[in-house]
Amino acid sequence: MLQVNNVEAVYSKIILALKGMSLHVPEGKIVALLGSNGAGKSTTLKAISGLLSGDGGQITDGTIEFQGKKINGITPDVLVKNGIFLSIEGRRVFKDLTVEENLIAGAYTRKDRSNIKGDIEKIYEYFPKLRALAPRKAGFLSGGEQQMLAIGRGIMAKPKLLLLDEPSLGIAPLLVKEIFQNIKKINQEEGTSILVVEQNANVALSIADYGYIMESGRVVMQGDPVTLLSDKDISEHYLGIG
Ligand code: ATP
Repeated sequence: MLQVNNVEAVYSKIILALKGMSLHVPEGKIVALLGSNGAGKSTTLKAISGLLSGDGGQITDGTIEFQGKKINGITPDVLVKNGIFLSIEGRRVFKDLTVEENLIAGAYTRKDRSNIKGDIEKIYEYFPKLRALAPRKAGFLSGGEQQMLAIGRGIMAKPKLLLLDEPSLGIAPLLVKEIFQNIKKINQEEGTSILVVEQNANVALSIADYGYIMESGRVVMQGDPVTLLSDKDISEHYLGIG
């Protein structure tokens, strides 16, 4: 479904953030992208979703393929229409719109407008809290509630590939578990392929089919979650799990 091949990316023409980054997200799978601060995880997501140039960056080598077609250089709006949706910290919800208006806005690229009501209902089943908050302006929601809404908006777009940037950031531990269980449910019920970037390796690997660990702009380890978590060196060294 998604193939990142040896991508090199720079910011301001000089800061080398990706140095031969490669990964693969197979159709219908959840892949976790892990690693310490500054490893290049967010840059990888930006490169995939076409948002790098908006941040003063560019891809200088390598290719990104989505469903067999090269997508580097394609603008974010075209990528969204083709089924790639990025949910990113800070750009997640429209604060002046209500929760329900945010969900409706999430479906703006869809051609099948008839089933939007039914899909909103589905989001409320995944995240019952959002139903109670439906008329509330999104700007007044807590961080965790906004995170649920951001994921809900992503689902409304019916993407083939959902990119999630640190869904656990700033969220209470109990809620993190709930959000990740819902991400897994969405993957299973909708068949959405998911690439999730996380600092919280434990929770990400608990739902992932495969994991990559990045350091200094490239992948240094990869494997299925059981293998990654059972290796003491990897757990302590790269995942911060002691
Ligand atoms: P974190 O977990 O802290 O978000 P990350 O793995 O997502 O880290 P990136 O945000 O991709 O890391 O950053 C990779 C490198 O690129 C870092 O050295 C960072 O300082 C640099 N970088 C990121 N964004 C920019 C930017 N807009 N301009 C210049 N350098 C940047």
